[in-house]
Amino acid sequence: MKNVKQMCLGVAVAGIVAGAGSTVATAVASADPAAPDSTRSADTSENGTPDRAGSPSSTRTRGQVSRPGAAQAAKNSDRPGASVGSTPSVPESAAPGSATPARTQTSTPQRGRTVSLPDRTPAPSPDAISAPARDAASAPGVTTTPPPAVRPIVTAAAPGALLPATPAPAPIPVPVLPVPAAPVAPASAVTVSSSVSGSRSRSASAVASQIGDPPPTHVLLIGTDGTNLDKVLANPANVGFFDLMAESVTGATSIVGHTTISGPSWTTILTGVWDNKSGVINNIFNPAPYDAWPTVFNLLEAHNPSIDTAVIADWKYINDMGAAGAYPVAADDNIFVPFDTSWEDTDDDVTTATIARITATQAADSSFIFSYQVAVDEAGHAYGGGSPEYAAAIVNTSENIAAIMAAVDAWENDPANLGEEWTVIVTTDHGHQQSVGLGHGFQSPNETSSFVMFDLEGDNANNGKQNLAYSNADITPTIVNLFGAPPRSDFDGVSLVDNKTDSIVDPVDLSQALNDAIDTFGYPNIGTDIALGIRTIFGSIPYFLDGFVTTITGQLQSIVEQDIFLVSALAGAAEFLVQITGDVLVFTTQAIARVVAYLTGAGTIAPTDPPLTPPPADSVFVPVLLPAAVLV
Ligand SMILES: [Zn+2]
Repeated sequence: MKNVKQMCLGVAVAGIVAGAGSTVATAVASADPAAPDSTRSADTSENGTPDRAGSPSSTRTRGQVSRPGAAQAAKNSDRPGASVGSTPSVPESAAPGSATPARTQTSTPQRGRTVSLPDRTPAPSPDAISAPARDAASAPGVTTTPPPAVRPIVTAAAPGALLPATPAPAPIPVPVLPVPAAPVAPASAVTVSSSVSGSRSRSASAVASQIGDPPPTHVLLIGTDGTNLDKVLANPANVGFFDLMAESVTGATSIVGHTTISGPSWTTILTGVWDNKSGVINNIFNPAPYDAWPTVFNLLEAHNPSIDTAVIADWKYINDMGAAGAYPVAADDNIFVPFDTSWEDTDDDVTTATIARITATQAADSSFIFSYQVAVDEAGHAYGGGSPEYAAAIVNTSENIAAIMAAVDAWENDPANLGEEWTVIVTTDHGHQQSVGLGHGFQSPNETSSFVMFDLEGDNANNGKQNLAYSNADITPTIVNLFGAPPRSDFDGVSLVDNKTDSIVDPVDLSQALNDAIDTFGYPNIGTDIALGIRTIFGSIPYFLDGFVTTITGQLQSIVEQDIFLVSALAGAAEFLVQITGDVLVFTTQAIARVVAYLTGAGTIAPTDPPLTPPPADSVFVPVLLPAAVLV
């Protein structure tokens, strides 16, 4: 128990330091993204296990993919110089040793046609300025200035209508949430592409099939946890990312104004609402928020039960989300990939399972896959976001993306699949602090940094371009739209298929343009900074207690299993006591954390859409949590 108290104290003290540090950094308004260590408080690692023996894998061969060489470690310092036109830039095609041939239907991106590079001049953000506080807090992921014509059609609940989603500490007055810092845009010198509208062109066979039933839709969402885009861009070895960006529209996004912890952030990605609606505060899975806010799996299954939906992940929380929801049908296949030697090896197992799933997809069956990888975040927690190990983990993820995209290409090029294509989206939930230790959870630009890469089926006109208005909250609305399902009126994001196309620009140097966008990310205002810091501190206490109890009981259980006379019996009794005490502590601190979170604005906005209509009772398919060993 002494250790528990010390841990709590450590978290609290570190949190106080963090709050003070963040405040000071905000006050001086010149925070260096490369040195946000004063904001560190609590380790918010996704996986409670302390085992992070992550030896970077170097060269493996998967299918027809020849993987590039071992990572060249990224420098501990920030990315290379920010001068216009500096390298690295997006390769025009696969670099030597490239993992993936260019997707065959991809026309070479035409760069440098009507483009000037974005400058650093921040443009005013009409959304952020005009919106009321809660409205702004609902959609701050828009990191750049969308033109008024593409303002997200978000209908946030009026402040007076705020109700707690979960839990329901009704008598507690809701303080007014401070407005997050107005996002700034590098948009002033950017020429907006005019080649966007109507650019989505399906293949001939798909168009033909449209005459009858709607054509099948295939969407792959790849999540890489805790991955800083500037670190992706800084290393030319990340060929898988660069190849994907060369056939996608990429947005550097920021989740400033929202908690930079995985549970809340992946919830935003998979529900389309921010944490002021979902009320998710940390990485202890709680099913209630997903009863109120259906996941993309619920939404797709409710729209069309014939869509094959799958989640493949090596963090249990993601699988739990894939199975959650008041709507009785969630992901059809829920594949949890257990730890395997190292987190990178585990991600490789996720990749293998993902490729198997893609390869097995039938052209006639609409399908959605969410493939989640965790090694980058684990490396960030163990070694820091500026470490060579973090850079190496990104290279491994890049190789996995290349392997997955090779499988997508092979599937699309198979005549048996009738010219069907996949839409691919790649994203992360938050960034990482640069130094080893505490990772993320606060509001420094390195922590709030995220990205969305959007490779829309049939859209080659926008290959290699940038979008200045993408938001992580747009992902579920986009996926739902791709399958023809209606949007929720209380989404915080919008479908990227039909919206924000006016915010697409065609930079000469995509990497530089994205780095310029990242450089505009700042802190929220002091009030938001402190409120979210306090929320993270309180939310971290039950999470770490839970991990501590799991570790201790696991060690005691190992003694029990050794069957030592008397000692094992005592260990068993101790394990029981620790478990009971631990459960009470976790429950109590989690309840306190939820109250604190509510007071700081989490879960204060209730759904305005009605619950999904349940399916007929005899049509409910009960999803099965499949052991990965059966499938990998
Ligand atoms: Zn995360």
